Amino acid sequence: MARIVQKYGGTSVGDVERIKKVAERIKAIRAEGNELVVVVSARAGVTNELIARAKAVCDLPSDRELDQLLAIGEQETIALTAMALHGIGVPAISYTGAQAGITTDTVHTKAKIKDIDASALEKDLSAGNVIIVAGFQGVNDEGQTTTLGRGGSDLTAIALAAAIKADKCEIYTDVDGVYTADPRVVKTARKIEEISYDEMLELASSGSKVMQSRSVEFAAKYNVVFEVRSSFNHNPGTIVKAEVASMEKVLVRGVAVDKDQAKVVVSNITDKPGSAARVFRALADAYVNVDMIVQNIGRAGVANLTFTVPQTETQKAVRALEPIVKDLGGTVSIYEQVAKLAVVGVGMRTHSGVAATLFQTLADAGINIQLISTSEIKIAVVIALDKADEAARLAHKAFGLDA
Ligand code: ASP
Ligand code: MG
Repeated sequence: MARIVQKYGGTSVGDVERIKKVAERIKAIRAEGNELVVVVSARAGVTNELIARAKAVCDLPSDRELDQLLAIGEQETIALTAMALHGIGVPAISYTGAQAGITTDTVHTKAKIKDIDASALEKDLSAGNVIIVAGFQGVNDEGQTTTLGRGGSDLTAIALAAAIKADKCEIYTDVDGVYTADPRVVKTARKIEEISYDEMLELASSGSKVMQSRSVEFAAKYNVVFEVRSSFNHNPGTIVKAEVASMEKVLVRGVAVDKDQAKVVVSNITDKPGSAARVFRALADAYVNVDMIVQNIGRAGVANLTFTVPQTETQKAVRALEPIVKDLGGTVSIYEQVAKLAVVGVGMRTHSGVAATLFQTLADAGINIQLISTSEIKIAVVIALDKADEAARLAHKAFGLDA
């Protein structure tokens, strides 16, 4: 007998037919003698719809009321999943986040989990029930409903798995697992069998998002091993776990492309101590997320600063920089026809030449590199948007990832 936490995402519980399929899957796993705690998301699209309705009645909905509203998406699916199980003779009971003992801090719409008191859940579990928990929500010390940030059902599942010391944690989604590249772009992409937390986080921040990043960070912190797999078939998925020595044998685990980035160039700004600090302070104060940064060598008392921001934040960035360029001189230009390509792998730590191989591959195809950034396990470049797919295919091949 094993204790298993499963999480089903929005498409897996997207309508009543899908919910019945999930119930059948749960029934079969329980019949093998396992204990099951199941976390569900809202039906796909429901959270977005609720947010749209909130904005339709008020320009700036309060975060507290948003949480009251958003929490209902998951409350629909927990009750329906429990009923679907009853319908096929499986004892089940649904829990809201509060009922599951998930307490959070007071930051509405992006609350952090503080503690989980699983005593009620444990009691119902030993009575033979399947427990269905609403993902993405909790309760703060004042009894207010909170939510855990978009995609937060992943976090609910990982945190519950840690709290009840589950033997297994399975994240069910609509893809078979984590791939070496986006299979829609790179036809030769393969499913990755095992990936480290760090690689998974770097791939996610580089544009191939399968799970909420905070949930992966949480899993790394509490060493929760989990599997990402599909609820639409029975194929094995991808195991995400702490790094082991054998993982270093692979130079590059995966290639990611992010097409939602824009390049910002602040040119001819006065070259003196504090200029860069002012630029990035203004951006930080406006909550603009800056990624890659390059400053060229100043000439004739002026310098250029180039960096990337999410495309959705370019206008915010321009507005934040207006007073600064007025003061320090210079001009701000935005380039949206760019993409970020990243290769990620823990093997880079112990092998040299990964950067050279990537740059040569791009050079041979006549693809110009506009910006470069690296971490211990990642090399990322900004290139022209219309070259992104080709570059991904070439890098995938160059690092031996083709099937
Ligand atoms: N329903 C929430 C969202 O769409 C949480 C989740 O699906 O994980 O962000
Ligand atoms: Mg999700």
